Amino acid sequence: MEKRVLVLNLDHSPVAVVTVQKAMVLTFLEKVSCLSFYESYTIRTVSRTFQYPAVIRLNEYKNIPFRGVLLNRNNLFKRDGGECQYCGSRKNLTIDHVIPRSKGGKTNWTNLITACHRCNVVKGDKSPEQSGMILRSKPFKPSLSFFLAEYAERHAEEWLPFLGVKTV
Ligand SMILES: [Zn+2]
Repeated sequence: MEKRVLVLNLDHSPVAVVTVQKAMVLTFLEKVSCLSFYESYTIRTVSRTFQYPAVIRLNEYKNIPFRGVLLNRNNLFKRDGGECQYCGSRKNLTIDHVIPRSKGGKTNWTNLITACHRCNVVKGDKSPEQSGMILRSKPFKPSLSFFLAEYAERHAEEWLPFLGVKTV
């Protein structure tokens, strides 16, 4: 898989993820400084060998509004660690409205959870209080860093120190 490069704002808050090509262009234009490299990767050109950037930082502060992580099935399952939020099952996952739609429950990060098919059926059209089912964690709106850390743990350990995640 092609490596990705984490882009930080001047204040070190994560703002984007770009391809290595884009990161190299930004580096040549002196728009960014490289803070971390992928140690075992290099890029060869005719005359030189470059280290593969892992984390770059904008040289000027940019006001980039963050629109929030896209609410979809995949991202919701990721937020919940791929587990039913009632029983912990990892099979037959569905999406459950904590407060059912019929009772005015919204379709948003704080009212949607991952639930296995069985729990979803058992809970039916009831609120957790009515059904007596207890949520394992309170649903929350994930930050960009949350998803970046999730990605970094699998593909880009070099990002972790810049995401406020402790490395071992
Ligand atoms: Zn379940």
